Amino acid sequence: MKKFLKVTAIVMVFAMLACFAACGSAPEKEAEKETLVMATNAAFPPYEYKEGDEFVGIDIEIAQAIADKLGMTLEIKDVEFGSIIGGVQTDKFDMGIAGMTVTDERLQSVNFSTSYATGIQVVIVASDSNIKSLDDLKGDGSMKFGVQQDTTGDIYASDTAENGGYGEDNVIRYKTGADAVQALKTGKVQAVIIDNEPAKAFVEANEGLEILDAEWAREDYAIAIAKENTELLEKVNNALAELEKEGKLAEIIDKYIPAK
Ligand code: GLN
Repeated sequence: MKKFLKVTAIVMVFAMLACFAACGSAPEKEAEKETLVMATNAAFPPYEYKEGDEFVGIDIEIAQAIADKLGMTLEIKDVEFGSIIGGVQTDKFDMGIAGMTVTDERLQSVNFSTSYATGIQVVIVASDSNIKSLDDLKGDGSMKFGVQQDTTGDIYASDTAENGGYGEDNVIRYKTGADAVQALKTGKVQAVIIDNEPAKAFVEANEGLEILDAEWAREDYAIAIAKENTELLEKVNNALAELEKEGKLAEIIDKYIPAK
């Protein structure tokens, strides 16, 4: 009999503990959604730009779709392109989405998600220019190249001739691609090296410019995440895979880059 009581008491204690655990975890009200902070440079149409006060573009919609899948609230920080990686490294931002090319050098500082788009570096020139092909681009001091600072266009163009560049002295860096294009229009630079989709948008918005019919470099765009934050990297990769499977990724890209 004593033994029976003892067992009953133990069972009751366990039952009470189980109840405490279960009841304790029931939230009083729905917990507030966690924030997912993305850094971008909203001067890169059609990936990220502003319409009035609103951020729009492929990257903005992909980030929103990822946040939705993670049950988080998206917060957008519009910063200089060159400060995105540093901010991701120091946890100021959870992720950088900015038409950002995966490079070996950047991979030493941050991790990248799976790639969600391809970028091509192209060359914009004035339509009446005698630069008609990549062979006409010279790093001999006879011409200047405009780039957006800290982008791959900048990094490659500023490199030495033996590495395929035109030399740092021949490159002028601007804060945005739009500023570089302005410099091309006023003759301060004779060529702008930039990603193909913004190039198309800039040429469309400005008369007298054209894109050389050649690929200067082909690249993968991906999302930058801090090296330690492997948990977020995995969640983002899973979300991207789902978005791809659902056709949502293609839908977002097609909305901004209609197939011809
Ligand atoms: N794809 C280029 C890079 O990663 C440019 C990106 C941008 O200007 N937003 O450097």
